Amino acid sequence: MADRLATYRSMREFSRTAEPSGKAKAPKSRRLRFIVQKHAATRLHCDLRLEHESVLLSWAVTRGPSLDPHDKRLAVEVEPHPLDYGDFEGAIPKGQYGGGTVILWDRGYWEPEPGKTIEDGLKHGHLSFTFHGKRLKGAYHLVRIRNDKAKSKRNNWLLIKQDDEFAHEGDKHRFLADTDFSVASGRKLDQIAAGKGRAPTAFIGGLKQSADATWDTDASRKEKPTRAKASAQPKDRTATPVVVPFQLTKLVDRPPTGPRLGA
Ligand code: MN
Repeated sequence: MADRLATYRSMREFSRTAEPSGKAKAPKSRRLRFIVQKHAATRLHCDLRLEHESVLLSWAVTRGPSLDPHDKRLAVEVEPHPLDYGDFEGAIPKGQYGGGTVILWDRGYWEPEPGKTIEDGLKHGHLSFTFHGKRLKGAYHLVRIRNDKAKSKRNNWLLIKQDDEFAHEGDKHRFLADTDFSVASGRKLDQIAAGKGRAPTAFIGGLKQSADATWDTDASRKEKPTRAKASAQPKDRTATPVVVPFQLTKLVDRPPTGPRLGA
């Protein structure tokens, strides 16, 4: 099998950063895990990460997930990330790639629609699945849309809520606004940016975390990352992974073709 983290690794210099290379084994789970990291960068978005074959398939979702089936959210496919990336919460230094603050916004389990495989969904560009998260629940669809290759090498998808008991029409941005704190630490954006408050609890495991985790995303500089105050922290706790930004693409909401969703 091809190395699914090859792209991820090629974008980072592990001799200069403590970002997880994905070589350390994160604990296995019988159920497939998912993570959503709300990322207050140049543009606020949410990074959706779905566990599949020991990596996190990743999409950067413009404006985050919605509860409204009519509200299709652009989801830009980015490179698969290592599993332990899904436990990161902290600040990325200003001026760096992806500079801003990352909140663990949701996590839990996901499963493809019964009778369908993830491979088929990815291949055919329509992944139907159910979230069992703290916040995201019920059925969603990821539908791949036609991509302007001249403008972006990324695949663009739409994240669409299926009309089920968890759907809420007209929700717009209330869902995200009402849930502006971390599921892993209870902290809000400003606390995380300041490195204050509780350290996030682990879900996936494998990544050691502190309340003031700062990822230095500039591999050419050898600044020491901001470290936890310490006392209780073992010496080897240098969790300073790098976030590399996805390429921002023009927002194009082309409706998906094919069978109706949410029926
Ligand atoms: Mn991001």
